[in-house]
Amino acid sequence: MNVAGEPSFRDSVDLMFKRAAALLDLSPGLQEKIRVCNSTYTVRFGVRLRGEIKTFTGYRSVHSEHMEPVKGGIRYALSVNQDEVEALAALMTYKCALVETPFGGSKGGLCIDPRAWDEHELEQITRRFAYELIKRDLINPAQNVPAPDMGTGEREMAWIADQYKRMNTTDINGNACVTGKPVNSGGIQGRTEATGRGVQFALREFFRHPEDAQKAGLSGDLDGKRIVVQGLGNVGYYAAKFLSEEDGAKVIAVIERDGALIDEGGLDIESIKQWMAGSNGLLAGYPKGKFMADGGAALELACDILIPAAMEGVIHLGNAERIKAPLIIEAANGPITFGADEILRRKGAVIIPDMFANAGGVTVSYFEWVKNLSHIRFGRMQRRQEEGRHELLVQELERLSADKQLGWTLSPGFKTKYLRGAGELELVRSGLDDTMRAAYQAMRDVWHGRQDVEDLRVAAYIVSIGRIAAAYRSKGL
Ligand code: GLU
Repeated sequence: MNVAGEPSFRDSVDLMFKRAAALLDLSPGLQEKIRVCNSTYTVRFGVRLRGEIKTFTGYRSVHSEHMEPVKGGIRYALSVNQDEVEALAALMTYKCALVETPFGGSKGGLCIDPRAWDEHELEQITRRFAYELIKRDLINPAQNVPAPDMGTGEREMAWIADQYKRMNTTDINGNACVTGKPVNSGGIQGRTEATGRGVQFALREFFRHPEDAQKAGLSGDLDGKRIVVQGLGNVGYYAAKFLSEEDGAKVIAVIERDGALIDEGGLDIESIKQWMAGSNGLLAGYPKGKFMADGGAALELACDILIPAAMEGVIHLGNAERIKAPLIIEAANGPITFGADEILRRKGAVIIPDMFANAGGVTVSYFEWVKNLSHIRFGRMQRRQEEGRHELLVQELERLSADKQLGWTLSPGFKTKYLRGAGELELVRSGLDDTMRAAYQAMRDVWHGRQDVEDLRVAAYIVSIGRIAAAYRSKGL
């Protein structure tokens, strides 16, 4: 967003870091070491397409190697540039530290409009980009592990994994060179939904603390809360779907490229997504709700929870004053600029920061990487054994309930629910839930425990920076 007086995305992240670092007892040297981006590699490569050589520019930036491998997605968009990739790599470092995934931070990007190329062309471009990064160890199971981001998904990750394995035929851990792969090619159940699922778990945890909800002037749980979602991509779609279908929240507006759909009665996310699949991703023409071409204005609607799940910088100095949501959860990376953050805080809004809110993706990426290194699906050894032990207990309960004198009965459905041992998807969701709860608690302890901390973003940075500093110190830096 080019609003006058607004710093770049990279500077905005730096300013947020510095606001928190000022409250920590760190030497200026260590502070600087943690803040700066270690390296950014720019690659320009040619691919013969449609009868001529097309040149593409891509980046892989490594922000911090205090833990390895470094981790972070690869974005395909025309707007990709070095400043953006470095800002996103920095956010990956802080995010991984906050949710305790044992990685440093990295990010990649390719300047490309993925809609402009067909599948075969995209495969050629992706394989060539991957080749350039692999030969420099910028994709490697032990050093640098990409994942999907805007404009990429499991299809691209499968191409990257295959390219790595072609170039490293004897690496038995080759599948762990990238996460977010399809389940049939080394992926893990629940990775696609993970970021949206994480947003849901983050909000559930927030509402478990009435004092926290009270800070946003809200009470109760998610039931009946009015939500505005920007972006129905992988993150926004799953977040909106789960919150409306499972928690009773009402999505009153969704914002996409061509405008916004509004319905105070609540929108049906699944049916909108189906509509978009047949309309080239456009909302216009959807038969229900009111369509508004000025999507940006819908960010300013009165609601309980605003979920920016699209791009960075969408809430800026130019519109922050008009944002009415008392609670904003940053499902995208960097949707609120440094200046806008200040305005919103002054207005009393509570912001659940990106490095926590959207950490579900990298958390499940971690599970996938571990699965790939251990070469076995989670739950494969235990599931039937667990079911066997449950069976014993159920038989005993059935025996007791047969005794009419005790007057016991088992509630309907108990037996099937209790008998079923956890499969991979259940285990992934349980690991993700636990991660989001633990990270929220860590942030919350700082938020409530320190007089000088007024918001969750600073609290999140304090937790992360503290952990990264400890890792550097133990290395003798
Ligand atoms: N691109 C996602 C993010 O921004 C996922 C990164 C990963 O799974 O490594 O967090």
